[in-house]
Amino acid sequence: MDKIRLGKTNMMVSKLGFGGIPIQRVSEDEAVAVVRRCLELGITFIDTANGYTTSEERIGKALSGQRNRPLLATKSLSRSRDGISRHLQQGLKQLGVECVDLYQFHSVNNSNTLDMILSPDGPMAVLEEAKRAGQVKHIGITSHQIDVAKEAVKSDRFETIMFPFNFISCEAADELIPLAREHDVGFIGMKPLAGGMLENVTIAFKYLLQFPDVVPIPGIEKIHQIEEIVAVLQGPWEMTAADQREMKRLRQELGTRFCRRCDYCQPCTAEIAISTVMAFPGFVRRLPVQTLFAGWIPAIMEKTTECNQCGDCEERCPYHLPIMEMIAEHFSQYEAEKKKYQRQAPST
Ligand code: SF4
Ligand code: SF4
Repeated sequence: MDKIRLGKTNMMVSKLGFGGIPIQRVSEDEAVAVVRRCLELGITFIDTANGYTTSEERIGKALSGQRNRPLLATKSLSRSRDGISRHLQQGLKQLGVECVDLYQFHSVNNSNTLDMILSPDGPMAVLEEAKRAGQVKHIGITSHQIDVAKEAVKSDRFETIMFPFNFISCEAADELIPLAREHDVGFIGMKPLAGGMLENVTIAFKYLLQFPDVVPIPGIEKIHQIEEIVAVLQGPWEMTAADQREMKRLRQELGTRFCRRCDYCQPCTAEIAISTVMAFPGFVRRLPVQTLFAGWIPAIMEKTTECNQCGDCEERCPYHLPIMEMIAEHFSQYEAEKKKYQRQAPST
């Protein structure tokens, strides 16, 4: 597989990376098999996170005893110095390495958090120290908020930026990708299949391949999924007129109900975490059922019943999404999933 330079990290990574979210929901043996198949297919860049429950550990198991070690990226949602330090040490242990190639601040979606991370007392200092100590090679950041992502790139304190990028959620193409290029910050594209909403893998990847310095990291849980994507990379990549027509049709069909998680709809008068509620169908597709119902998701979904139909969010959403209708639909889906989960749960 072709390799590309990941910005100022100077790391040469495979043109396609591996996203470690969905391996949480399959068995450990399946997870190990999927990671090893990715290595056989030439993938040399694997991304995971402290927050993805078993993902770091499973990747560590898959890599144990393998001759070729890929470049490893992981991340933490913690914003405290102690938390980052603890997550980094856990990650090193679970991945079975003494040094991680890229450590990222996970999901930084507002300017105050970014400023806090970069302040002299903030957690950036912990990663910079870990870099000097040889436990981290490079430092990056991930965000869903374009203005914050642009600020992060302009700060010149991060070597990579990870941001959603696919042919529906393509805002990054206008300014963020050119800005990252200008600052020599490596661009990692999260959600290349829009969290599972884009079923036409060929068109999704042909679109992304038009950006030669973007590294997409599809989340993979089955061997056939990665084989299908690698087949697209083997070309031809050019978008035919028929591909363009189909992309336009899908944009029209999906774009009107596709949440970019930009949070411009906030603040909600009932304090509903709208973008998280909007992502619920994707959680169902990608997360293990235990994570859906044992973690923080139920509280957020139950809160939707407090929506007072004020409509403020819809006025603010730049994509004109029918937010009130969609959160009601996602709550119904949540209730249906909860019933299924309760039926499966062993009785106490
Ligand atoms: S309509 Fe509901 S979700 Fe939207 S801002 Fe008002 S209370 Fe929040
Ligand atoms: S509902 Fe609209 S404004 Fe809110 S996060 Fe989604 S796309 Fe952004």
